[in-house]
Amino acid sequence: MQPTGSGELHIGNYLGALKNWVSLSREGTYDALFCVVDAHAATTEYRAAEMPTRIFGTALSYMAAGLDPAQCTLFVQSDVPQHMELAWYLSTVTPMGDLHRMTQFKEKSDEHKQNVNAGLFTYPILMAADILLYRATVVPVGNDQVQHLELSREICRKFNARFGDTFPEPKPKLTPTPRIMGLDGKRKMSKSLGNAIDLFDPPKVVEKKLKGAFTDELKLQLGDPGRPEVCNIFTLHTALTPEGEVKQIDADCRSGALGCGNCKKRLTETMNAELAPIQARAAELRAEPQRVLGALEAGAERARSIATRTMADVREAMGMNVRAPKS
Ligand code: AMP
Repeated sequence: MQPTGSGELHIGNYLGALKNWVSLSREGTYDALFCVVDAHAATTEYRAAEMPTRIFGTALSYMAAGLDPAQCTLFVQSDVPQHMELAWYLSTVTPMGDLHRMTQFKEKSDEHKQNVNAGLFTYPILMAADILLYRATVVPVGNDQVQHLELSREICRKFNARFGDTFPEPKPKLTPTPRIMGLDGKRKMSKSLGNAIDLFDPPKVVEKKLKGAFTDELKLQLGDPGRPEVCNIFTLHTALTPEGEVKQIDADCRSGALGCGNCKKRLTETMNAELAPIQARAAELRAEPQRVLGALEAGAERARSIATRTMADVREAMGMNVRAPKS
């Protein structure tokens, strides 16, 4: 995840990706690595003095949400310079046409018209490097990153075809709620659009934000059946409210027995119940920043040792070693 804003994440990041990371790392099936992608964040304008706080806030959010450095590797992208090195080599097998098709590039260049830089354009190549550097097979992301991941797969295939089998093909892993809409109900939840609920919003703020959230209600005439399938509040219920209750909410919304106000009240309760332990852990970590910094330092060391091995193989495969034995 990018360290944006003050580094804190929103409910979309959490339900679209982070919650999945926590369950995957607890499951123990995978050797899981998660990083804070600060180099990616440099593609939009920022104040250098604020970046350390943003990086720290994002890492703290990871741990507060339940990522345990004893069960996975946590690190900061810029602590492992091999990401940038691999990105360069991968750029030589990435077709320009594919980069031009990326929706996020089009959206971000519209959003930041005064700063359409080459990094914004080549962003998906660095993302492919983030993945392939660790020979990752599974990448848990939200829906908006699936297109980039498809391109990572394409880059992986192109590299392997040209230089020999070096990387496995990574596959996306989505949560049941891979795209959380913003409170405006119009665009995906995003910090920069001001339509987000923050992981660290206090209960009263969550209540106020949900109260004002867009629902299908405005389009309905009095007595019309509700349409949970198109309602963002209902989507959030499916991610946060106990399953049996969700079925009842669905039925009661359709029959008109449950109005939007009460439906939002119930969601406020379940959302605040989910956020309470996360916020309590965040407070503990803020009081002991060394726990976060220490985890990042150990994580970077481990990530660098994997990255060093991969890059030796990559350079070898590409013939970038004049001292290699001649065959
Ligand atoms: P980013 O904000 O681009 O750094 O995204 C971090 C992760 O959160 C990525 O896996 C995204 O796909 C995911 N994500 C961001 N916004 C949303 C959203 N509104 N709904 C679901 N997942 C999201």
